[in-house]
Amino acid sequence: MLNRSEIDALFDPDLPEPSFWEQQYPARQLPAGAEVTRFCPSPTGHAHIGGIHVAAIDAAIARQSGGVYFVRIEDTDQAREVEGAVDRFDHAFRHFGVASDETDTTGLYGPYTQSRRARIYQTYVRELMRQGKAYPCFATKDELEALRADQLAKKVPSGYYGEWAPWRDADDEAVRERLATGVPYVVRFRSPGTDAGRIAFTDRIRGTIEMDDNRADTVILKTSDSALRLPTYHLAHAVDDHLMGVTIVIRGDEWLSSVAVHHQLFDALGVPRIPYAHIAPLMKQEGKTRRKLSKRRDPEADVEYYAQAGYPTEAVLYYLRGLANGRLAEMPLDQALREPLRLEECGVTGALINLAKLEDICADYIAALPGATILGRVKEWAKVYDVPLAEVLEGEDDLALRALAVERDGFDNPRKDLRMWSNFGTHYGFFFRQLFDLVTDPADPRFGGLAPDVVRDLSRRLLDRYQPIEDGDDWFDQLRAVAAELKFADSARTYKQNPGLYPGSIKEASQVIRVLLTGSTRSPALHLVAATLGEAEVRRRLEAVRLA
Ligand code: GLU
Repeated sequence: MLNRSEIDALFDPDLPEPSFWEQQYPARQLPAGAEVTRFCPSPTGHAHIGGIHVAAIDAAIARQSGGVYFVRIEDTDQAREVEGAVDRFDHAFRHFGVASDETDTTGLYGPYTQSRRARIYQTYVRELMRQGKAYPCFATKDELEALRADQLAKKVPSGYYGEWAPWRDADDEAVRERLATGVPYVVRFRSPGTDAGRIAFTDRIRGTIEMDDNRADTVILKTSDSALRLPTYHLAHAVDDHLMGVTIVIRGDEWLSSVAVHHQLFDALGVPRIPYAHIAPLMKQEGKTRRKLSKRRDPEADVEYYAQAGYPTEAVLYYLRGLANGRLAEMPLDQALREPLRLEECGVTGALINLAKLEDICADYIAALPGATILGRVKEWAKVYDVPLAEVLEGEDDLALRALAVERDGFDNPRKDLRMWSNFGTHYGFFFRQLFDLVTDPADPRFGGLAPDVVRDLSRRLLDRYQPIEDGDDWFDQLRAVAAELKFADSARTYKQNPGLYPGSIKEASQVIRVLLTGSTRSPALHLVAATLGEAEVRRRLEAVRLA
């Protein structure tokens, strides 16, 4: 083994001792039972809805216990870093109310970005090396590949361990010689694990877990060839979560198998082990099979999908919370968002994300909101995602509110036509002159094949007698009278009995007026639409076809 001064010479001579960092990051002063949690995205791409799911659990566990939740950017894999990813995460976290409780400016445990903590990790790596718990490894990529091939041929487990770890107990002279000539190296942790060793620990979600102990000499510090000399995830996790006072590590279950090495690292560093809770990934049903929601294959994996479509944030959070704790899915939204989340109730198999179900939740949620709130949220959304709509809505509050009130205000079963803010344009756009295309062609297929002359006559005659009557029945009587003049049957039933006798029934006649007023064959009650549009606009729309 190299002596202390040889080891120290591998690092910056001004590197502090571990005691310095321990003083920099004193234990947190929090009430008993307060949990400190963290969510640690790697800025390697889009923010994943599964990440929001985990972050929301982290935030809930901390906040409901009077503790602290923070976000730490894990950018030690600089080669895979994607530009703009940190900003995208930041935006997504804000959007879903899971922005960090502590930041570089407000928190005492920063920096909260790992690439800015390089010296901290180096201190601990040097310390492990001084104690003989870590060593430099000069194996090249080719040598490691040859090692793997050899292991495969001999049918032994692959990995860098025991007799398959050429630099673990290397001759000091060989090490010195390479260091002297500047051969690049990584630092590996000397695993204390034994061949048949087993470990057991308690996961807060999964209960007692037993697994083989770790034997691999994991890399803890990346190549000496790089300027920053960053650690791997394993070391950074142990060092940061210790110094930053984390009380429970909640993370994706892809890390479950790493617990053995993480325990070894905590022990080697001489710091307490931190309890874990491993969250199962969100799943997707595809035909008969269930698979992990995939960033590459599923648009709904990307957080931006929800923001762009304008799913109401609270409804998405409520849905995710219900996926985490089934008990909460049974409660109304407000209550479910207030009730404590329990790690013991999180599933271990991975909850299924079902957009149809989410959209039903969103529709129910929006239906119960006051029109003014809906309008405010639509405008906020449109400013980012539908600027032409935002411009139209600017200065049209009154019409927008009246449109939203149609079959909503005072109705026992309010309309559920809005599942997301982007639906507003589709379902309410026709109320606005600026967004409505007049229907001018009497042969338009939306008229259901009625003779163009009949369509024109219907609109002309209704115009002649049109009164903006408020009462629904009286309003409709005007249309009834016109239809009768043009020999439409007074009911669908009468028409069906003798279709040859009539151009259609009152139903077909109403559809013509509906299409003229709304551009669609489906709409809320026509007298309410007409009252909202106002007489002048009704006339303009009815006239359009005649003038064509
Ligand atoms: N950066 C790790 C990841 O993205 C975080 C794992 C953890 O939460 O410890 O998977």
